[in-house]
Amino acid sequence: MSSKRIVNILAFVFVATVLLVPIIRKNAVPKPAFSEIYSMNTIIDIEVYGKNKEKTLSEIVQKINEINKLTDDFSKDSDIYKINENAGIKPVKVSSITLDMIKKSLNIARETGGAFDISIYSVSKIWGFKSGDYRIPTETEIQKALKLVSYKDIVLDSKKQTVFLRKRGESIDLGGIAKGYTLDAIKKILDRNNAKSALINMGGNVLTYETPPEGKFWNIGIRNPRGEGIIGVLKIEGTKFISTSGDYERFFTKNGIRYCHIMSPFTGKPARKIISDTVVSNKGYLGDALSTAFFVLGKEYALNNAKKFGVEVVGFDLNMKPFYTTDLNNIIELRK
Ligand code: ADP
Ligand code: MG
Repeated sequence: MSSKRIVNILAFVFVATVLLVPIIRKNAVPKPAFSEIYSMNTIIDIEVYGKNKEKTLSEIVQKINEINKLTDDFSKDSDIYKINENAGIKPVKVSSITLDMIKKSLNIARETGGAFDISIYSVSKIWGFKSGDYRIPTETEIQKALKLVSYKDIVLDSKKQTVFLRKRGESIDLGGIAKGYTLDAIKKILDRNNAKSALINMGGNVLTYETPPEGKFWNIGIRNPRGEGIIGVLKIEGTKFISTSGDYERFFTKNGIRYCHIMSPFTGKPARKIISDTVVSNKGYLGDALSTAFFVLGKEYALNNAKKFGVEVVGFDLNMKPFYTTDLNNIIELRK
């Protein structure tokens, strides 16, 4: 995956006190513990403020690596690889983290009528989104792959802590939820360590924690999906999870048509209803999965169902016209 993805969402601390003498500001603004790492197929920026910032930072990095190790579908040691290898053969014992993430994925699959479906892997593969050899598959290939897509074929046994895929050839991938889920785990680490404030950006999935070191709001930039820089800013107060899904991160074009990495489980083809959407949520896993589901289902679904899920959403339709839930009115600034 290209490092371009880091700028999927541009998160930055807005210096609200620009009018102060720089020296005063220098003294007043605390320095964060900061780290930039590559994990979960993306660049991750971590910024922590507070007494235990260094210890907190190292715990966060450890947690990211732990979850990545369990969920990386390319790594032979991961739970996901083992589940996929044993599809149609036998249940696989997994870690409690993997089990919980799959459980949450299945709930969201049910609640979105199957738009969010972690068994989409078979379809992603035939379009080349796993290998990087992008291609347009034939209708026959698509129909064949679609037969292997059904979240209902994912069997969980909570007692034995196992996961089983019913059919041979079926496979799952947690790319649509793992980053948001990890942000939930990071929030717990921040809570436990009494962090004063923090900002985490995992390639388009952002956690703002408590009050920023300067000013009252976190100003989270929304990247322009069809150009340079940012197209809007969300003024976020306190702890929130902000997740974006768009067709501009990983895609290829053929004959003027754009094919992106988010698949519709209904058609077996890349979703093409909107250009991007950004979900603001109190739960990381939910915001991440819903940004993907809303991308598949489109503008009307997103606007009509955001409340039901307890989230807010802003997005851009195929004409780059913005749409957003009314509660965002006060905190969104869109640029012309
Ligand atoms: P990203 O992780 O690239 O920032 P998303 O959160 O939207 O963006 O997740 C996209 C990833 O989710 C894809 O790369 C793929 O692994 C997986 N995916 C694609 N389509 C779906 C879908 N319909 N349901 C669940 N997961 C999907
Ligand atoms: Mg997502």
